Amino acid sequence: MRAKLASAVAALTLCVTLLSGCGPMANNDSSRIVVTTNILGDIVGAIVGDEADVAVLMKPNADPHSFAISAQEAHALQTANLVIFNGLRLEEGVLHHVEAASREGVPTFEVGAAVDPIEYTSGDTAGQADPHFWTDPTRVVRAVERITDQVIEHLPHVDANTLRQRAASYAKELTALDALMEQLFQAIPETKRKLITNHHVFAYLAQRYGFTVMGAIVPSGTTLASPSASDLASLVGAISDNGISTIFVDTSQPDRLARVLADSAGIDVDIRSLYSESLGGPGSPADTYLNMMRFNASQISDGLRAAAR
Ligand SMILES: [Zn+2]
Repeated sequence: MRAKLASAVAALTLCVTLLSGCGPMANNDSSRIVVTTNILGDIVGAIVGDEADVAVLMKPNADPHSFAISAQEAHALQTANLVIFNGLRLEEGVLHHVEAASREGVPTFEVGAAVDPIEYTSGDTAGQADPHFWTDPTRVVRAVERITDQVIEHLPHVDANTLRQRAASYAKELTALDALMEQLFQAIPETKRKLITNHHVFAYLAQRYGFTVMGAIVPSGTTLASPSASDLASLVGAISDNGISTIFVDTSQPDRLARVLADSAGIDVDIRSLYSESLGGPGSPADTYLNMMRFNASQISDGLRAAAR
């Protein structure tokens, strides 16, 4: 009788040990998604909700081209169950960590490559794929579909129906955003739909809503390049020749060069700030992707309509 009880206790103990070893603990471990940029982090969070943990590497108001990560964050990346990154060479400081994780067998998903990217047409990155796809919300609708598929495939314990429902309701918000942007931009006279920005960041927005990109202060697809004297001279020419009266800079980049340009052009040029490639912090007008896009669309519409008066 005593022997029987002892073996029953032993069996129970074994059972409990097994449960804690590969039961709930393992489930927690298999629910971690690491996302590189904060824009994608917000989008992935909207799809996933409470179904999985989402860790975002890039801080608010950072530069996606140059941000770097700590050794601890690199470890988190290499032990994630899915890594979601923008790619198309956007995160230049982090891509080697993503590649290392991929070599270790971690599933990685390059969102930019999955949304039919366009190529830069000018500057030192001409001919390369443009990573700034999020400036067109209809591309983000495609991104949401592909991200949802990836999460369901690589995190098998998440509830696929819940995820698909969340993705569909977020896609509706993106479609409403697209309609709002269309409406705001239609208020700008067609001849005034001309953009000069910090670097080449708005090609997707320009293609979607009929803007012409007249130039960029840094004539490159990356913020890591710097303009030459002749680059600046030709931009001053473009500003004067086209009667440009508003230049858009990024909130996270210094606007010193924009001010020099505005002064050199010899006309009254307004400088407005956009959140073009990073969310702002909590409480800022760009605390989510949707808020960031609404804010930018209003800034562009207000800036170019004021110029038309
Ligand atoms: Zn950029």
